Amino acid sequence: MQENIIIAASETQSHRHSMDQPTWQQQLSNAIRDPQILCERLGLSRDWLAGAQIGHELFDVCVPEAYLNRIAYADINDPLLRQVIPLGEEALTPHGYVDDPLEEAQHRPAKGLIHKYAGRVLLIASPNCAINCRYCFRRHFPYSDNSPSRAQWQEALDYLRSDTTIHEAILSGGDPLAANDRQLAWLVEQLESIPHLKRLRIHTRLPVVIPDRVDDALLGWLASTRLQKVVVLHINHANEIDQAVVDACARLKQAGATLLNQSVLLRDVNDDVTTLATLSERLFEAGILPYYLHVLDPVQGAAHFDVPDSEARELVAQLRDYLPGFLMPRLVREIPGRESKTPL
Ligand code: SF4
Repeated sequence: MQENIIIAASETQSHRHSMDQPTWQQQLSNAIRDPQILCERLGLSRDWLAGAQIGHELFDVCVPEAYLNRIAYADINDPLLRQVIPLGEEALTPHGYVDDPLEEAQHRPAKGLIHKYAGRVLLIASPNCAINCRYCFRRHFPYSDNSPSRAQWQEALDYLRSDTTIHEAILSGGDPLAANDRQLAWLVEQLESIPHLKRLRIHTRLPVVIPDRVDDALLGWLASTRLQKVVVLHINHANEIDQAVVDACARLKQAGATLLNQSVLLRDVNDDVTTLATLSERLFEAGILPYYLHVLDPVQGAAHFDVPDSEARELVAQLRDYLPGFLMPRLVREIPGRESKTPL
């Protein structure tokens, strides 16, 4: 069965680069990391620049070309732009907004490993992302303390080996797919040698941000593992799903992955019923099932994205009038200390 998948992946889903097309690594290193260039490239008035510089000081701007191309020119209200442009509001310090809203620091039994929920653990497989989302709940995460080398992974792997109640390993980050494929293939090999592990879950935004990331090298290790594979993408707006993303999703599915999506409910990005309904429809067209709609985690610097719970509930109630049940994401909040996410 696995052999068939490998053949299918290599025969029908080959994704090699022509000489003039930059590799995903080149696209990543060429990402826009200067607020001034971002404003210039998108034709934004200079009025936005001062705020962008302030936000950038707090959390670096990072927008790859493949994502930039999906943003409308000279439209400060573009829903994709709102997710990536630093703003002066990020310097505000409203009550209740903190650096570690999910209190992850209390759940790290080994370097690079977070164990919060029964049966599954989260591995910080890469400290890097391909894009910096302004609302990210890990925008202050101490990645430098949690980026294990191969030798240092042993502690986390020993922890997994010794706890037979753990059936699922979740690769997270940063973005786990920002790591190179040699490193990921090695880590997945280590994981699949642990008999009680059944599932590999990958939380990633890279196939959306730089669809060329889903290349033959990635599909090779993904298709060949014995673990069941779930890829949880992170898409907040239908405009993020262009043809290249659809094609990348098709390749992931051919490699045997189940595709789910989690979104964050964000003010001025997706906080209306039509936008959310269109997102669910477009996700399904791309072979992805809506999974979670998170309300914002109260991370310092992101308060301007907040949608109050009462409004979130109302939106989701209205959404039911538009969508079949299987396209309804579950509205949840993550509350530190709870055994699972809390439905709202
Ligand atoms: S890709 Fe994910 S982890 Fe990275 S900044 Fe965006 S939301 Fe945060």
